[in-house]
Amino acid sequence: MTDHAPDTVLARPYGGPAGSVTPPIYQTSLFTFDDMAAFEARMAGEIDRPLYSRVTNPTTAAFEEMMARLEGGAASVGFASGMAAISATLFALVRPGDRIACVEHVYPDAYRLMERMLRPWGVEITYHPVTAFATDPEVMRGAALAYLESPTSMMMQAADLRAIAEAARAEGVTTVIDNSWATPIFQRPLALGIDVVLHSASKYISGHSDTVAGVVTGPAEIVGRIRDLTLPLLGGKLAPFEAWLLVRGLRTLGARMREHQRTADLFVDRLGGRAEVTAIHSPGANTVPGLEGRSGLMSIELSDSVDIRRFADALDLFRLGVSWGGFESLIVPAAVTLAQAGEHNSVRRFGVPERLVRLSLGLEAAEDLWRDFDRALTIATR
Ligand SMILES: *Cc1c(COP(=O)(O)O)cnc(C)c1O
Repeated sequence: MTDHAPDTVLARPYGGPAGSVTPPIYQTSLFTFDDMAAFEARMAGEIDRPLYSRVTNPTTAAFEEMMARLEGGAASVGFASGMAAISATLFALVRPGDRIACVEHVYPDAYRLMERMLRPWGVEITYHPVTAFATDPEVMRGAALAYLESPTSMMMQAADLRAIAEAARAEGVTTVIDNSWATPIFQRPLALGIDVVLHSASKYISGHSDTVAGVVTGPAEIVGRIRDLTLPLLGGKLAPFEAWLLVRGLRTLGARMREHQRTADLFVDRLGGRAEVTAIHSPGANTVPGLEGRSGLMSIELSDSVDIRRFADALDLFRLGVSWGGFESLIVPAAVTLAQAGEHNSVRRFGVPERLVRLSLGLEAAEDLWRDFDRALTIATR
């Protein structure tokens, strides 16, 4: 841990062999020992050395150390995906009979994990607007764990995390937040009193749309439990090459987030001047206490005068696709997600508006992106 600013943490050279500033990729499944005494000492837990890459690998550890510093946590553990991070965290922290208080508009696959795996296992799950966690005492009372996103998926609703953490502490509830939207550049949940912070590192942490990964950060006791139990036994480990890509991505996280914010600010400013845009969901600095910036992921609602299919097809720089947080701009009309097959769908259950469109603003020149958006909107408006 350190009191350096995030940019300084991100720019810190690795300090590897021959003074290398980036970590070597330890592309190995196992680590060997010269003699029985060393092997026995490692197996007895008396010496700290890597043994097998399902549990630890030095390249993965380099990424984990950077994340722990950045979030201001005692320890981090990397995973093969954001969903591996979420499932390993929840299965380590709840037992059958427990209740999870989960945020509405939660990431759709996290919702499916709750409904299709945790509920049949005997865990009760209740859903609440993110703003209710600090204001409605019934949300926390008797819960084992509060599972949060702020801002939430699709609707981008944000809440005061410090107030939520206080409400949770008063009831002995462990708090977990998915901080993929804000990143530690714009929101540091641990400093606000939240217990555990996790990410889909596939989004801004990687930033280059070239890997799927996840990471969990928190107190040594909780991260240790995940590392001893659900990391090795569910086995969703972060691979060394993916970890190396994440270290590479992290180097520019601060610079990228500020650029995403610049473009997002321009969009929010100009969207307000278009009559076809009936709502803008894009929290920014000080929308709630502790939130220090606006990321490039926002959603808007379009009036009936806009043909959303036509609008999406008329865009040139925005591609149609899931995921977000990369260099390229993307758009997802909520209607596509609402029509997605299967009954387990948080987007449908919690009433995301039909005429909502999610935008992930990339790193293209802001004026080019706006011109593309503005032109497509004009084409698609009656
Ligand atoms: C993408 C996403 C996830 C899942 O992460 P994967 O890396 O795709 O497994 C979790 N939470 C949020 C908010 C996401 O956007």
